[in-house]
Amino acid sequence: MARYTGPVCKLCRREGQKLFLKGQKCYTEKCPVERRAYPPGQHGPSQARRRKHSDYATQLREKQKVKRIYGLHEKQFRNLFEAAAHVPGITGENLIVGLESRLDNVVFRMGFAPSRSGARQLVRHRHVEVNGHVVDVPSYHVSAGDEIAVRPKSKDLFRIEESLQARTRPAVMDWLALDERARVGRMVRKPTRQDIPLAVQEQLIVELYSK
Ligand code: SF4
Repeated sequence: MARYTGPVCKLCRREGQKLFLKGQKCYTEKCPVERRAYPPGQHGPSQARRRKHSDYATQLREKQKVKRIYGLHEKQFRNLFEAAAHVPGITGENLIVGLESRLDNVVFRMGFAPSRSGARQLVRHRHVEVNGHVVDVPSYHVSAGDEIAVRPKSKDLFRIEESLQARTRPAVMDWLALDERARVGRMVRKPTRQDIPLAVQEQLIVELYSK
């Protein structure tokens, strides 16, 4: 299935909340979720008036929300879920930790890119190294101790500099370390669910896929 290339703000409006899909730009631009608080499309306003959702609809929306935040296809998301279900621990938490450990997400969390989609592009365009080797697979699983660096020839890229200097850039998380000047970071430990500021109920996703 092709990647969605339409306006990302529509995806936020569909979920009825800010998903910050444009990353740092979401703090500076006028947000359509605030201006038009109903789903996109001709029937959007009437859908917003319909109050009651079935359990299935609630679970589906939660899954779609997480999928959209991390920019994954259904197949990729499902595969991650299957992997999370086979690891000891709570499946929902394993899923979120698995999503956070993707290389594109780690590059975004370190601030090398203003959004996850920008980070995915940096990885795809071979600007990122893991432990000294170029990795151009955004879904690459980063492990504790791995060193993530911008390639020497890409260190002065304007978009990386701009992202690192942005006023709205969130602080680097506890489980990551960053040498901003050298453009090198490290995953110091595996994140836990408590480390991840994601307001979703992952249990609903587990219930959806367990049907
Ligand atoms: Fe979503 Fe950001 Fe667009 Fe607001 S500005 S709708 S948070 S992508």
